[in-house]
Amino acid sequence: VKADGKVRWLVFDPARNAREVSRYRLSADMPGALDRGEFILVYQPLVNLDTGLLEGLEALVRWRHPGRGLLSPDEFIGLAEDTSLIVPLGIHLLEQACRQAVRWQQLTKDPPYVSVNLSVRQLRSPALVADVAAVLDRTGLAPEQLQLEITESAIIDPDDDTNLIATLQTLADLGIRITIDDFGTGYSNLAYLPTLPVHGLKLDRTLLLGPDRWKVPEPVADSFLANLVSLGHSLGLNVTAEGVETAEHVRRLRVAGADTGQGWYFGRPEYAEQFADRLPGPWT
Ligand code: C2E
Ligand code: CA
Ligand code: CA
Ligand code: CA
Repeated sequence: VKADGKVRWLVFDPARNAREVSRYRLSADMPGALDRGEFILVYQPLVNLDTGLLEGLEALVRWRHPGRGLLSPDEFIGLAEDTSLIVPLGIHLLEQACRQAVRWQQLTKDPPYVSVNLSVRQLRSPALVADVAAVLDRTGLAPEQLQLEITESAIIDPDDDTNLIATLQTLADLGIRITIDDFGTGYSNLAYLPTLPVHGLKLDRTLLLGPDRWKVPEPVADSFLANLVSLGHSLGLNVTAEGVETAEHVRRLRVAGADTGQGWYFGRPEYAEQFADRLPGPWT
């Protein structure tokens, strides 16, 4: 009974409670899991839409959990961000990815770049630039062979975020490619885009779904897509489309003039070894 005289019931919801307990256990498992090497990377092709050849490979984390099997990032990246473990985890993954890229370099004369996701929390870590430079140094990977993916929503307002912009600029000056991930979903102010030191845009999957999903006439969906691509090109940026699942998607992207495609049509994320004898493609 509360002070206002009303009775409040605390309803016990077993499903919700189980979820909370499960999240709690996962976050408790995480530091040990990092030490035991349970976080691994799979890679997905980034394919040149003109040539069908491999341009790069995106590193995507998985947690090989001893009790629960292979966990996808949606199940633990948020937790890692909440607990700050994302910073050491992120550097550990970056190092794995760079080492792998060096191995691929030894297999082909036209090696793919490796593309690594950075969370907002990592971007705001004061040690980021030094950490990234140290990884490049330890692994011997050329900065041009590394791409970092940052989500559009990570950049709120460059005027308030001078540190973040300075960080991006320093990374770009090192020669690292920087691309804006999930472009078109973050509702950021487009006016900032020309000022950002970035190399490319990755159009979010939802932008490719087109007429079937959005119930707009096909010509409208196609010209919308083409205009998004032109937006990127007008700033000299590479435009990658994610979520390419069908030949029809590829056709629409070619018409729209996109540069690079990524998705199940070209290949699912796979272990690094799977690529060794397939470089540099074609991947059609
Ligand atoms: P993302 O960066 O947007 O990555 C693309 C996601 O789409 C991946 O999910 C990928 O497996 C999935 N995907 C690829 N092709 C297709 C397709 O044709 N159709 C559909 N429906 N999906 C496709 P995944 O691997 O589960 O990763 C989910 C998210 O977790 C990533 O989204 C990224 O935001 C985050 N993430 C993954 N790895 C890392 C990492 O190492 N560090 C950080 N900070 N975040 C990561
Ligand atoms: Ca990504
Ligand atoms: Ca993405
Ligand atoms: Ca996405």
